[in-house]
Amino acid sequence: MQLRIPGPTPCPPEVLEAMGKQMINHRGGQFGDMLKRVTGKMKQLYQTENDLYVLAGSGTGGLEAAVVNMLSPGDKVLSASNGVFGKRFADIAEAYGADVTRLQFEWGKPVDPDGVRIALKSDPEIKAVLLTQNETSTGVTSDVKTIAAVINEFDKLIIVDAISSMGCIDFQVDAWKCDVVVTGSQKGWMVPPGLAMVSVSERGWKAHAQAKMPRFYWDFTKCKSYFEKGQTPWTPAISIVYAIDVSLDMMLKEGLSNIFARHAKLGDMTRKGVKSLGLSLFPADERYASNTVTAVNGSEKVNAPKLQQVLREEFKVVVSGGQGDLTGKIFRIGHLGWVTEADIKETLGAIGKALPKVSA
Ligand SMILES: *Cc1c(COP(=O)(O)O)cnc(C)c1O
Repeated sequence: MQLRIPGPTPCPPEVLEAMGKQMINHRGGQFGDMLKRVTGKMKQLYQTENDLYVLAGSGTGGLEAAVVNMLSPGDKVLSASNGVFGKRFADIAEAYGADVTRLQFEWGKPVDPDGVRIALKSDPEIKAVLLTQNETSTGVTSDVKTIAAVINEFDKLIIVDAISSMGCIDFQVDAWKCDVVVTGSQKGWMVPPGLAMVSVSERGWKAHAQAKMPRFYWDFTKCKSYFEKGQTPWTPAISIVYAIDVSLDMMLKEGLSNIFARHAKLGDMTRKGVKSLGLSLFPADERYASNTVTAVNGSEKVNAPKLQQVLREEFKVVVSGGQGDLTGKIFRIGHLGWVTEADIKETLGAIGKALPKVSA
């Protein structure tokens, strides 16, 4: 199977092998050493010296953790969103009683820094901004560096969903002064689902001290005090921690700039490939097309769900469909994590062969 969806992504054999190891005491020194080692390596990928926690949960759990640890009910929050995941982030904040202003950008377009500036100017009471670096549902990457610079002019909290981009696309957490940044293990990290990672800045800790949203499982204060003992507050997903210990070594060996360059190259290959097959990209402006997931338009002539089915059944290539309003209208090719040019060539080759079978 060629699993070409934007998470879960395939795992290298050495990662799968690490997961087969026997359990250890999560309150013992061996786990403590591993937790500190993994956290240290993860911080290198985050390009941060901020605190960072490895939580047992999916990426959405990490988003919820960010919300409940930073905010109080009634806090004004600006959600800058351009797709399904941006909407989900806003929905979580709203579920916990934040007063959310939804600044929505057209799906297929990135978040516009000037739009964020205008929104922040017009409401000085906004306390935090929720952003998505890579909107997986539309295949669009927003320019977090520029948007964060705007938000920092106003000295607001910056909370970012980098679930499908961290470790694949450049994100300089410290240089760009982002307060809480979330990712999930099954995206660019070459390991199975089960972990969410969150970084917390100094400014984030100050907000946390004031934040009154109800929380228990996700409480960062508990994470901090347990981490000092080499532990997590609750039983960790030990097997996935084994896995990420290995995959982070692979990533650090490859090197950040090489990882980013590989994803950029694979993104470019995928876009060129689908266009050469006569298909069009969903993102409105190719400069913002994601290097981890490519969203491709279906059309009157090309039935996207049918293409997905033929790819899976006849060519053993699994791609994703559209989400939300894009259900049935697009398909998406994941190219993040453990992926090579050969994988993309195989995928494009299969699409080329499947197209005549699904075209009207
Ligand atoms: C996958 C994804 C999520 C959700 O993560 P889960 O692990 O499925 O909870 C959120 N945001 C983005 C951008 C994603 O790609």
